[in-house]
Amino acid sequence: MIETDAVVIGAGPVGLFQAFQLGLQGIGAHLIDALPQAGGQCVTLYGDKPIYDIAGIPVCTGRELIDRLLAQLAPFKPHWHLNTLVAALAPQPDARLLLETDAGARLLARSVFIAAGVGAFVPRTLKMAGMERFVGTQLFYQVLPAGMDVAGRQVIVHGGDEGAVACAVELAEQGRAARVSLLYRRDLFQAPEALLQRLQQLRAAGRIAVEVGQITGIASSGMPQCSTLRALQVVDAQGASHALPVDVLVAVLGISPRLGPLTDWGMAMARKQLQVDTEAFRTSVPGIYAVGDINTYPGKRRLILCGFHEATLAAFAAAEALKGDKVALQYTTTSAHLHRLLGVAPASGATGP
Ligand SMILES: Cc1cc2nc3c(=O)[nH]c(=O)nc-3n(C[C@H](O)[C@H](O)[C@H](O)COP(=O)(O)OP(=O)(O)OC[C@H]3O[C@@H](n4cnc5c(N)ncnc54)[C@H](O)[C@@H]3O)c2cc1C
Repeated sequence: MIETDAVVIGAGPVGLFQAFQLGLQGIGAHLIDALPQAGGQCVTLYGDKPIYDIAGIPVCTGRELIDRLLAQLAPFKPHWHLNTLVAALAPQPDARLLLETDAGARLLARSVFIAAGVGAFVPRTLKMAGMERFVGTQLFYQVLPAGMDVAGRQVIVHGGDEGAVACAVELAEQGRAARVSLLYRRDLFQAPEALLQRLQQLRAAGRIAVEVGQITGIASSGMPQCSTLRALQVVDAQGASHALPVDVLVAVLGISPRLGPLTDWGMAMARKQLQVDTEAFRTSVPGIYAVGDINTYPGKRRLILCGFHEATLAAFAAAEALKGDKVALQYTTTSAHLHRLLGVAPASGATGP
């Protein structure tokens, strides 16, 4: 059981800024996200596209904004829990909040900040009877686990976008698998030109086999509890069916947001968003704040800038609640206290304790 003052659910732009604002209040935070990296929509949906309406930054890409937020947050050294879905959140008799993750971790927090955006980004899964029993042993979504060795194995990467092409190309270039196949319903892939050229070269050299078709079934051996996936049944564009031998299947089918568990946590919601006040962005459950795209209030706009404002006021309110006292406003420009927290050299003329 981890005991902490603050947990931030969601490491999108607003969750990151929330953790930064908590840091300025002297509150350390645990940051949890279902994705393997920080960034929320900015990285997942438009990493390379420009944003023009962040105050003081005329233009930056989604990924650049997240890199800057991470750099800004770095002095506060948050505790990271990536690849982790918050499955349950419940108030306890002592007014603390118990969070449970799908990884089995339990956190007991005095305050929780929900910055869950449009929901947890989770991989799209293969809808095929019997497939789920191979997840984690022979079937992996989006990426192979770090350090997994595919030496001598038949690997199929299933998907048609940049992630799928990059995965197949990387495996083929490693040269450890016995065979690397890229399976998609069309011989047309969505990826940057340079990556498509690498794919073409590896195809021409016989190091990647492109298989065009749809999976219609699987062949396995052994008892149901410990069976082994042996082959995928694939139907091509002409309707002909054939079996593709497989030891490892990486399904790169994209990710989609799932509001999921959040709707069961007992907070007042309106149209799938958490209702908050505009003084402190408190939800209907004491100790739980909601910021960014996940909340709603009169006049709400789903903009990053608005989320930053919400996170700032929520941090002040939480600091006052946790300390049981008023929190005075200090400027990062002139406060010696904030300079110490930020780990920067005190400016000349800095004031305060
Ligand atoms: C194409 C596009 C362009 C945009 N352009 C702009 C723009 O120019 N300017 C602008 O201001 N806004 C823009 N936006 C909107 C902006 O991206 C969002 O307002 C912003 O991302 C909201 O940030 P957030 O941190 O609230 O949520 P998100 O970015 O959605 O991040 C939420 C995170 O929470 C995680 N999460 C959710 N539930 C759980 C759970 N139960 N457990 C663990 N993790 C969870 C998710 O995995 C996700 O990473 C754009 C949006 C899109 C789609």
